[in-house]
Amino acid sequence: MSNEKNMCDVCGENKVKSVVASSTGPVSYGYCEECIGEYEPYSALVAMGVKYDNLNPTYKEFVKKNLEFHDKTIEEFDEDVVEGNKEYEEFIRNNV
Ligand SMILES: [Zn+2]
Repeated sequence: MSNEKNMCDVCGENKVKSVVASSTGPVSYGYCEECIGEYEPYSALVAMGVKYDNLNPTYKEFVKKNLEFHDKTIEEFDEDVVEGNKEYEEFIRNNV
């Protein structure tokens, strides 16, 4: 698991230290030493499909910290979640 382009899926700046299952769902990402256990890729947070207000309190803390890291506002996050859900529903409609 080592090549020149093996960069962290979260920050994209550091080399991947380990590939582990994401806390956001049944997927794995590569994390650098700084991001592992602290941050998730923004797309993974959006892919959970839950708007900020509907997250449980513990997870809100986690998502808030992540949004700050990715330089996103809660409003932007909610919009992306709504947009992502729309795309998913369309995919289901067209493919199932
Ligand atoms: Zn990183």
